Amino acid sequence: MKILFLSLFISLFAIPAAAFTVRTTPTGELVKWESDEIDVYLSPSLEVLGPSEEVYFGIVDAFETWIYEAEIDLQVNFIYGDCEAGYSALSKNTNCIYASLEPSSSNEDAGANASITYSQVNGEIYDGDIAFYQGAGNWKFEDYDEGLDFKHVALHEIGHFLGLTHSQISKAVMYPTVNLHTFQVSNLHEDDIYGALALYDTRKLDEQSACQFAPTHRNPRSATAGNLLTLLLSLLF
Ligand SMILES: [Zn+2]
Repeated sequence: MKILFLSLFISLFAIPAAAFTVRTTPTGELVKWESDEIDVYLSPSLEVLGPSEEVYFGIVDAFETWIYEAEIDLQVNFIYGDCEAGYSALSKNTNCIYASLEPSSSNEDAGANASITYSQVNGEIYDGDIAFYQGAGNWKFEDYDEGLDFKHVALHEIGHFLGLTHSQISKAVMYPTVNLHTFQVSNLHEDDIYGALALYDTRKLDEQSACQFAPTHRNPRSATAGNLLTLLLSLLF
């Protein structure tokens, strides 16, 4: 009996802790973006939250963190301009990131909210919007500031925007609450990465798409067999 207990104990700890959750349709299709390129509007209203360059950089940086750390094959084009949140099948839809005065009563996340519209048939996301609430308190952009860490909240809401729901791992970006005093998050936890991989496993990249990352030669005529080989090797590894 003791042996059984011990082996059970070891097995439990040998399983990597994964607590991320994703959204699925009634038929079990993953809810995710299907396109590998999306436009995201950054509304001028965001400037009420803090210095404009800090706010815009914080959002772009948070998207880049997801894309690079979880290796998501997604190009996000940022457009500065007015946008309208919500989805209508009859009008042009914009993926809108904006500031709002007050949270809605149904809001789960204290400082911000992400909403997505997706197909109930295949799970494809048609539209995503993120609102940051001006009334949530002071927004923190630098380490020495006091308040709600903007990058942490932006990472969390972008996780929802990509299709993830909450995680039970307290240090994950997708944990449902942000503790203002104990720690802040500026990188993804491995649980967040597992969640993103469950939706967008980019390790299936083929050779052709990997070549998009080849450096551009300013003077291709100067390329020799030697440095072409170096370039080829750098692509292979
Ligand atoms: Zn949340």
